[in-house]
Amino acid sequence: MPTSRRRPMRCAPSARNPNTGTAMDSYLIDEGRKLYISNDDDGYYEIEQGRFRIKGYDGPVIECDKCGSEMQLKSGRFGKYFACTNEACGNTRKLLKSGEVAPPKMDPIPMPELACQKVDDHYVLRDGASGLFLAASQFPKNRETRAPLVKELKAHAEALPEKYHFLLEAPSEDPDGRPAQIRFSRKTKSQYVMTDEDGKATGWRAIFEDGALAGGGQAQVSAVARTNQLLYQTELLLAMPAGDDEHAPARRMALEEAALGQLGLAFEALLREVTTHAPGGAPDWRTWLDAAGRAQANGDALAHAEIAELVWLEALAVRPESWLALLLARLAALQSDEGAARRGGSPGLITRAGAMPLGDELRWCLGEFKALLPSLRQGSQEW
Ligand SMILES: [Zn+2]
Repeated sequence: MPTSRRRPMRCAPSARNPNTGTAMDSYLIDEGRKLYISNDDDGYYEIEQGRFRIKGYDGPVIECDKCGSEMQLKSGRFGKYFACTNEACGNTRKLLKSGEVAPPKMDPIPMPELACQKVDDHYVLRDGASGLFLAASQFPKNRETRAPLVKELKAHAEALPEKYHFLLEAPSEDPDGRPAQIRFSRKTKSQYVMTDEDGKATGWRAIFEDGALAGGGQAQVSAVARTNQLLYQTELLLAMPAGDDEHAPARRMALEEAALGQLGLAFEALLREVTTHAPGGAPDWRTWLDAAGRAQANGDALAHAEIAELVWLEALAVRPESWLALLLARLAALQSDEGAARRGGSPGLITRAGAMPLGDELRWCLGEFKALLPSLRQGSQEW
């Protein structure tokens, strides 16, 4: 039986029309009044005063953000939601899986200039539990949706609620001219701006913190994209031929040391990746390694215990036979007067036993580094 406070509820007949003696229908008006209406044509009615219990809604209520009426919890096809009891209003708000009520929705902003891709309709800008999105104006008949572009939002800046104005700070396109899109991260539960190329993220993005563009107002290339780029550059340097002229040995050393430098930068980008949400940000690798080495020598627990990936890397770095220990040792040499590349590795010369050419060492490190990435990024990756 549908229940509502505004429509009186029908009760069992318990009074009779004194004029005709027939039973009257009774309705509960509210907790204090019951109405009896005769079925006869004489229009007789009575109101009984008393204390009556309404078998109605006694679940949670919230105030409607649109009209101020009471909103009550209901169950629908797509889960629980709050619905406004004011029928003229019709506002609803989803109950999220977290138990929180979804933020108030803005009124859809018509964007008649934006045609849908698959249906004969245009888009409206809506907001939901996952932030702003474009939806076909004739939803639910047309179910098409897509992420809005920053420039599309900027064209309707005046209609956009204040709480979304921070998105207008984002650049309309990335440095290569690709249009910036507004996306939602389920991980951080916030909107961010990115670009893609054939459906693959380019790695360029702008994130927002406390309602403002993060990173000094500059859209940033993510640490993930930077690590990948530096690894690729290392690979390119290692694949470059040193030539066979008189400068070949010097060129080989230059390429090897350049590759080592790039691989060191890639490792620092990796440290930034795994410490993205850590207080204080990424440690400088030398300080970090010294601390890890000291901790091991003293039998202390490794630092950064709260970041599993970092603890794992620290354990790897202090294992002398590991690729990371080798890489860090070569980086230390690179920054010393000694340098990292060895002379005498030129073709035709027999290299000293145990002295593997730096290039070969780096190829090994690069392979191990890349093999490690998927597991290290697992779980900390969403973008
Ligand atoms: Zn309402």
